[in-house]
Formats: sequence, structure tokens, C-alpha cells
Amino acid sequence: MTDTGRPEINMTCAEFQERLPELFETQKDLSAEEHLKTCENCAALVRDLEYIAQQAKLLLPIHDPSPTVWDNIRTAIRSEPGKESPGRSSAPSAGR
Ligand SMILES: [Zn+2]
Repeated sequence: MTDTGRPEINMTCAEFQERLPELFETQKDLSAEEHLKTCENCAALVRDLEYIAQQAKLLLPIHDPSPTVWDNIRTAIRSEPGKESPGRSSAPSAGR
């Protein structure tokens, strides 16, 4: 008589979140998941993950950064704010 609900019918949060990476990979429609309809917790989690996934997609096109990009980053890291001369924030080498 101590029968708890079956996983297929009553998925727990842990079980659902365990399946999340899989669900994202298969690009399944998560809004169709029964658990999300009943669990606001996991629904919020999925929204967060979807947002992060979107941001990651925006970054993806930069998988082949040119050496110039890294050069700029290195320069930005090295140059200390105090040493910069005021009024000269734009790159001086623009006009050759
Ligand atoms: Zn849940």
C-alpha cells in the first residue's frame, strides 16, 4: 500500500533534471513535458537553460578568432587605465 507514483507518470525533479541535457540535445519541445506543466521550479530552470543556450549560440560564430582579436585582448589586458593619455581612447593607427 506504500506505492508511490510511477516515474513515467509522476516524474520527480531529480529525474527530470537528469534527463534535461538529453532533452536539450534532441531539441525536443520541452513545453510538451508533463513535468514542466506541474512544476514551476523546473519550468523556471528550463527557461534559464534556454536563455543560456541562446547566449551560447550567439557566441558560437566566433569559433575561429583571428590573431588580431587575441592581439587586441592582450593589449587591453596590458594597458593600464592610469597610463592612457586622456582624450585618446580610439585607436590611433586607423589611418595608417
Ligand atoms: Zn520539478
